[in-house]
Amino acid sequence: MLVIFGNRTIRTGKFSDNDHVCYHCQAYDREVQVSRTYFHFCFIPVFPIGGHRMEMRCRNCGDQTEPESVKKQYQGMAKTPIYLYSAPILLVCVTAYWFYWNGNNEKEKRAFVDKPAIGDVYTIKKGSGYEASYSFLRVITISGDSVMLYHNDLEYGGFVSKFTDDDYFVKDDTLVFKRNKLKEMLEQGGIYSVKRGYGIGSGFNSIR
Ligand SMILES: [Zn+2]
Repeated sequence: MLVIFGNRTIRTGKFSDNDHVCYHCQAYDREVQVSRTYFHFCFIPVFPIGGHRMEMRCRNCGDQTEPESVKKQYQGMAKTPIYLYSAPILLVCVTAYWFYWNGNNEKEKRAFVDKPAIGDVYTIKKGSGYEASYSFLRVITISGDSVMLYHNDLEYGGFVSKFTDDDYFVKDDTLVFKRNKLKEMLEQGGIYSVKRGYGIGSGFNSIR
């Protein structure tokens, strides 16, 4: 990927000054421009650099003298646009959204394990880090305190959200878990995710 970053400058204000005399030609007609430089990453503004830069010019004679009194008057009038902080703002939004999304996910997972439904598929995680392996369980029936489940055929060395083509739930080898055991597995991270309402593409309807 080509990473592009650097500085760019935008104009943050343009004013006509008729309050101060031009020492050169005595006219009261000056153009004042204020600009701000910002650091960008892939053209997304990250933060402004340095202060407001001013340029002024007498419209009558072109004189570019910059009297302090004029500077003072217009410096405060040019506001730094909030979008010059786009990247950090974006980062905060994405992070907040991720926490929100993750929180919802956790809540949903908890609710699904609390009240299992026929067809629910649990992604089971064993081990951690590079050693982690993943497999699946599918709820067949729930009776009272017990949940009957199919297990799948393969074990995956990395996280997968669906079956490979040759995987399936094993029809003839069912497991029974107490509901409390499932909750315990969830608490300990053994149930990595719970899927309900998955599509055909997931392969989770394949039972042989
Ligand atoms: Zn002038």
